[in-house]
This record gives sequence, structure tokens and C-alpha cells, in this order.
Amino acid sequence: AVPNITPWTKSTCAYCGVGCGLEARPKSNGQLEIRGDKDHPANYGRLCSKGMALGETVIPDGRLLHPSISGVRTDWNSALDHVAKSFQETIAEHGPDSVAFYVSGQLLTEDYYVANKLMKGFIGSGNIDTNSRLCMSSSVAGHKRAFGTDTVPGCYEDLELADMIVITGSNLAWCHPVLYQRIKAVKELRPEVKVVSIDPRVTDTCEVADLHIALQPGSDVALFNGLLSHLASCQKVDEHYVQEHTEGYNRALMHALEDGCNADALAETLGVRLDDLKQFFDWFAHTEKVVTLYSQGVNQSSRGADKVNSILNCHLATGRIGKPGCGPFSLTGQPNAMGGREVGGLANTLAAHMELDNPYHHQLVSNYWQTDNLTATAGYKAIDLFDAIDRGQIKAVWIMATNPVVSLPDADKIKRALTHCPLVVVSDCIADTDTTRCADVLLPAQGWSEKSGTVTNSERRISRQRRLLPTPGEGKPDWWIMCEVAKRMGFGHAFNFLHEGEVFDEYARMTGLDYSNDQLQVNRDLDLTGLSGLSTKEYAQMPPQQWPVPQKATRIEHKRLFADGRFFTPNGKAQFVAVRYKAPASKLSNKYPLSLNSGRIRDQWHTMTRTGLSTRLGAHLPEPYISVNQTDAELYGLENGKIAALSNEWGYARIRVDVSSKVAPGQLFMPIHWTGVMASAGRVCSLVSPDTDAVSGQPEFKFTPVAIKPW
Ligand code: SF4
Repeated sequence: AVPNITPWTKSTCAYCGVGCGLEARPKSNGQLEIRGDKDHPANYGRLCSKGMALGETVIPDGRLLHPSISGVRTDWNSALDHVAKSFQETIAEHGPDSVAFYVSGQLLTEDYYVANKLMKGFIGSGNIDTNSRLCMSSSVAGHKRAFGTDTVPGCYEDLELADMIVITGSNLAWCHPVLYQRIKAVKELRPEVKVVSIDPRVTDTCEVADLHIALQPGSDVALFNGLLSHLASCQKVDEHYVQEHTEGYNRALMHALEDGCNADALAETLGVRLDDLKQFFDWFAHTEKVVTLYSQGVNQSSRGADKVNSILNCHLATGRIGKPGCGPFSLTGQPNAMGGREVGGLANTLAAHMELDNPYHHQLVSNYWQTDNLTATAGYKAIDLFDAIDRGQIKAVWIMATNPVVSLPDADKIKRALTHCPLVVVSDCIADTDTTRCADVLLPAQGWSEKSGTVTNSERRISRQRRLLPTPGEGKPDWWIMCEVAKRMGFGHAFNFLHEGEVFDEYARMTGLDYSNDQLQVNRDLDLTGLSGLSTKEYAQMPPQQWPVPQKATRIEHKRLFADGRFFTPNGKAQFVAVRYKAPASKLSNKYPLSLNSGRIRDQWHTMTRTGLSTRLGAHLPEPYISVNQTDAELYGLENGKIAALSNEWGYARIRVDVSSKVAPGQLFMPIHWTGVMASAGRVCSLVSPDTDAVSGQPEFKFTPVAIKPW
């Protein structure tokens, strides 16, 4: 064989929020050779099965290659004219809130920035939300309530420095595999490190755990309120820290005691053994260096923000935050959910971590963007946004890099809403998805390995995604597509970016705006001044870098924030949030007696448009399934390997039964990946309830009442 002498290019994985660095080079067959980047601090050379298989997935099969209007191929100019004119006409007739963007954690930060600037700053509506709403908006809300800003305090290195790692609401082994590998390596090196997995299911993550707390779905607030009560009762609260650096402790403790002062009653509420509960509380109380990792099991809940704050409360009470080996740690699901948060991808935020409801921020952003049209009000959050489309209130929507007909709850309603919406524009790199089937206008976007820009991972680390291959067909960068529409809508002066580096520079400069006179937020967390003014070459070569980056000269890593006990609240103190346990919004009933949980599997990603191209990845779990406990299988007459019918008030699915002791009686689990495009497979989201958290708007993907019977 001829040796491949093409140089390696550094980039970042396309999938989860670990944000692993990789190196790639083209192969003679058009695919890519991939290896982990040994220098990248997220993974130090490790990659999981999905990352390793990326090279096999860069094939032209199934790609959206050309723009089209009403199913007829057209040229870019006509498509862009049509989108701009249709949006303008809709706005002229019905006002700016009659249009919306629904964007994605798959977008690069530069794409996200332009989308947010166009909708909020120039169209003048807050109606831009993102599928990151489904991923981490409860964490955003929890962070802001406790810290004043949406700030992740720690870094991955804390996993190596901790003496106890709590993994709650996360099958880390499948969903953030490289972090799981890091924890496994810690256990091999220091077996005395305690690992606790808190999850209603037995998952592969339990293999590394010393203790598994299989709590009842949705009871997390009760558990962490019990922990706070225990810390108080055994004098393990850091009184000095609480006094000097926080507010609201007494009220939060009062609430916690109501849920958690009676350990026997608490164990019963949680459905766990009293001894296990005591063991967890005892380890937490007596271990100084504790990291609590949490993910979708916490966030994707009608009580998600309260769950987050119940965890943050325990870390604030012990002062275990901002110190090596300590801290609460929210893991983002998508590769750039964090970057989207930074540039205002959520309907209720402005770019650069500024706030829509802060008049000082509003003025700063208006001045910076030189616009009189910046919206002053938040737009619809994801679920409400599609409800507004369904009601006919939103008449034109542009969906970018996401497939809401599969991924949003009550998915059949989403399909109905899009079918009736007068204008649906979809920009994507894939031709045939459940959502592209609903589109009036299709715009081909570049995919991973073709596009160039930045992403931010769960530990606030900004990394470059680099162009590795030419784009098939006529695919364009998302930021470019939006700029071209903006120009045609008359906003050209603000969207004259020549390349993605110019977009990044505008965003980085924005984080340096002076808000020292702001009464609501005296300090900034997100400061990228040190990354502004980069030359084209510097941007191209930018190494992975955690924010904040206040100075260009030093580029010192800020691994941890809040080390000095100062938070981004007006008085600099963190806020305890008093929370009480409440059961999930939808209740089990005689008609729908089982709770349906949903999540990822190890080797697939979202709706499988990329991972589905790899035979290797497809071999892991080749078809959708529903995990059912033996007790329920007998009760409902189900047989392993046979097809079952699931139903509830929102929808229906047919799916193969997997009788498994990994789910408890009364609970079911179904993966999220399969779609209506794939014959005979039920979409889990056609069953998932549209209940959302009242604070964050994040949907409840982990608890939906359903009925099951043989098909
Ligand atoms: Fe990619 Fe996540 Fe796997 Fe890392 S852990 S290789 S970011 S999917």
C-alpha cells in the first residue's frame, strides 16, 4: 500500500459536548483517516467509537446538494431572494413576531452569532430558539439563579483531582464516553476514589461505580434536599463560606429539611435502600474533593431547574466550588450547545452572556450593532414556538441543522404545525429527513469536515473545527446563507462578513464591551477580549482555549471560576435557591401506568444522519427497542424479541421488546435515534409529553406515562 503522507489537520469531533480534539487527513477513497489529538486537553488523544468512525461518515450519500423551492431545483440567488422576500412580506403584513428561527447545537458559534444578530437585532423579534433548549436550558437557568451568570465553574481536570465523583442523570459511558474513560483511568490509578451513579436504570456507567442509587424517576430534588439536610445535621456545612460568599442558606435548608430530614421517609420516596442512601450521604459529607457531574436526567425534566439548584446548593453549602477537584459540573449534550449559549442562541438571552431584560445590556448591544430594532422582549422557547406555529401565529420559520419532527416532544404535532405553516425554510446538509419533508425551501449547508469555525465544550473550552474536505454539491456555510438573506432584507451594512474569522472577531470584541456602570451585573464571566483582533492566520491556528480570555498577551487558562468566592451577582454572593420536591408534571394512571424514559445509545447520534452511515456503528444496536422489566413483561403479556405497541394521549409507536433487568418494574426505556424516515420504527418523541420546566422551558424527556401491549 502507498503510505499516506498528507499532513494531519487538527479539528474537533462532530458529536457530544466533551468536545474531543482530533486529527484528520484525507484518504485516497475520499474518506478521512482520524486519530485523537494528544495535545487537546479534553481528551489527550482518546476518542470513543463515534469519534473514531467519523472518517467513514464523510460520504456524499444522502447529502442535500442544491437549493430548491417547492421541490424544484433552483440556483442560490433565486432561493435567497425568495427567502428574503417571503420573510419581508410576512413581517410587513403581520409584524416581526410572525417569523421565527429554530437553530441547533450542531451550528458553529459563528453561525449562531449571525442567526441571533439577524433575528433579535435587525428583524426585531426574540423568536429564535435552539434545540439546545432540549439539552441544557435547565442548567442555564440554575446557573443564573445561583451564580448570576450561566457559568460552568470547573474543568475536566477536576475529575482526576477529585476523591469522589457523583454521576447523576447521566449514562456517561455511552453519552460522554471519553469522560467515562477518564474516570475509569482514575479508578485504576486510585481505586479508593469513590464513584456514585445516580440513575433509575442500571447502565454501563454503573460498572465504574462503587454505589448505584436507583432513585425513582424525577425524585432528584428530594435526594439532594436530603443530602443538604444531612450535611447540616452532621455539621459538615462550611459556615464561614456560607456566611462570606452566599445568601439564602437558611431558607433553602428549611425547604430541604421538609423533604429530607427523615431518612426512612426519604428512602421510601426515592425507592432506594436506606443503607445505600446513608452511604452516599456519608461519603459526600466526609470527602472534601467532590465533583458532581450531571446531564440530561437532571435537565430534561419539568422540575429541571430546581434539580440543578438542589445540586448547586449542596456544593455551595460545603464551599466545594471553584477549587481543584471540586464542583458541580453540567455536561452539555451537543458539540456546541455551550457556544450557542454564549452568543444568545436561546430566546431569552442576548449575545455575549448579556440579558434581554437588562436595559443597560440592551443599550450596549443596540449601540454595538448600530440598530434601533433590537427586540426588548424574549421570544418563544422551543415548545411554545412550535405551538405558535401550530396556532398560525408564526407564519414563516427557518429551521437550521436540526430535525424537530423527530426530536421535539409530541412530534406528530410538530409535523402538523410545519405542514400548515405558510413558509418553512430548512437549511441542512442532509436531503431526506422528517423535517426536510415538510420544507417549502431547502438550502444545502456545509457539514462537519467542510465547515470552519469554533465550538465550545462543557468545560468552557473553545476549539476550532476546521475544513478538511471539499463540500459536495452547492453546500454553503450557515453564517454565509444568513448574511446573504440579511443583505437582501436591507441589513447589508451589518452582515458584510467576508469569512468566519470576521464573525468571530465581532463576537469576541462584543464580550469586551464596558459594562462597569451596570447595576445588575458588575462583573463579566465571558470575556474573550484576548481572542479579538486576531489575524486571519492567528484565527486559523487558534489553539483550544478555555474562557475567559481577558488578555491576548498571556492567554492564561482559567480552569476554575469562583476560586475567590466572588460570583457574578450584584453583591458578589452566590444565591441558594430554596426548592422542594415535586413529582413530574404528568401522572401515571390506570390507563397509562408505566413511565417511559428515553436517551442515547452508545454508537448513535441524534437522528443517525451521520452515525447511520457507519456499518461499524450500526452493528452495536441495529434497531430500536423498548427495555421492559420481566415483571412487566409477564403482566402485559410481552415476549422478548417480539413487537409491542406503546400508546398514550400524545401518540403511538411499535417497537421490539427487550426484556431487561436494567430497568425497574413500572419503568420503560427507549432510545431516541430512530425516525419516521426509517420504516416501521416508532419515533420515541411521538410519545414524549410536551410538559416543560416552568423556569427553563426544557421538555420532560425522561418521564412520560404510557401503556404497552403486544402488537
Ligand atoms: Fe466525540 Fe464525544 Fe466521543 Fe469525544 S466523547 S469522541 S466528543 S462523541
